[in-house]
Amino acid sequence: MQPFVYDALPGRIVFGVGRRHEVPGEVARLGATRVLLIADGAAAATGDELASGLGAALALRWDEVVQHVPVDLADRARAAATEAAVDTVVCVGGGSATGLAKAIALSHDVAVVAVPTTYAGSEVTPIYGLTGGRHKQTGRDLRVLPRVVVYDPELTVGLPPRVSGASAFNALAHCVEALYAPGANPVVSALALEGVRAIHRWLPVAMEQPTHLDARAGLLYGAYLAGLALGSTGTALHHKLCHVLGGTFDLVHADAHSVILPHAVAYNAPALPEEMARLAEALGAPGADPAGALWDLAVASHVPTTLAELGLAEADLPEAARRATAEITVNPLPVDEARLTALLRDAHVGRRP
Ligand code: NAD
Repeated sequence: MQPFVYDALPGRIVFGVGRRHEVPGEVARLGATRVLLIADGAAAATGDELASGLGAALALRWDEVVQHVPVDLADRARAAATEAAVDTVVCVGGGSATGLAKAIALSHDVAVVAVPTTYAGSEVTPIYGLTGGRHKQTGRDLRVLPRVVVYDPELTVGLPPRVSGASAFNALAHCVEALYAPGANPVVSALALEGVRAIHRWLPVAMEQPTHLDARAGLLYGAYLAGLALGSTGTALHHKLCHVLGGTFDLVHADAHSVILPHAVAYNAPALPEEMARLAEALGAPGADPAGALWDLAVASHVPTTLAELGLAEADLPEAARRATAEITVNPLPVDEARLTALLRDAHVGRRP
């Protein structure tokens, strides 16, 4: 075995159906006395439930949540947190609600208790993001890492299929790239492969039967492992390509994951025989091509498989390849414009890799 370094991250995980009811107890356990509760419109009912459970410890409620955490929103939430003298932030919602709680924790000495309702995985990473104008600045800081995460699969039952599929493929991409991105190590790979197994098994079921609680629990477990993997490693071709497509061409960022992942894996596979063999096994296709298995999973889950259906024009492909080539500095195989253009052409029409 190769020597390795692994900075394991701290955090308490409370996982199970109905466990959102334990949030007030978890908050009390931290010794919190003044809580800021973040819950957007989609999480309003859970927010009401938690607000009554928190009782006198609730100092302030906040319902404005915007994707990618605009700086102006973060500043207003921080000012409100100062005025209410909060010592703890409880966030209920997807990666955007967690992102706002992290923005507050970056500048205030507060503990974060996260109650995720999507498969973003942000709740177990020390990564934060803030957006000023069209530029998103991201960073890593242990102060933003939630102290407690309460996973309740019941909270994900109302997630619309489009968001479920995109969010789960985002999680799957975290698991896949963690196998070979900078920081990869055998411990994180074991977690990531378990995440792949869970998502592969339960995503098609959750897409067909959104109220299937075992499927929702399996997906949430996979998303948790994916978040752990992302929090300990970097990213490579897949994430950078999705970032360029989302940032430059205004595609819904999350929707690109299911389209790009099979092609990104096919691109890097020749450099990663061992990782690909383990990935294929986790995808239930031992000895087969994992890129094809990922494509089959996307089809079985009824998630997007073509850039065309996301609204990207064929004429934009060379520009996307040019920008991505400039951005991708770390990847198992070198990238060049011609090969990325070919990858994007396959992704545009949805050719099975
Ligand atoms: P999101 O939080 O924006 O949620 C997407 C939509 O789904 C929102 O309209 C939300 O209100 C709604 N929603 C959420 N849960 C719901 C539920 N259970 N039922 C019905 N509707 C629900 O999207 P996301 O994909 O969870 O997060 C995306 C954001 O998180 C991005 O800004 C991304 O960059 C960030 N992110 C950060 C990290 C990190 O480690 N820092 C990791 C992954 C994602």
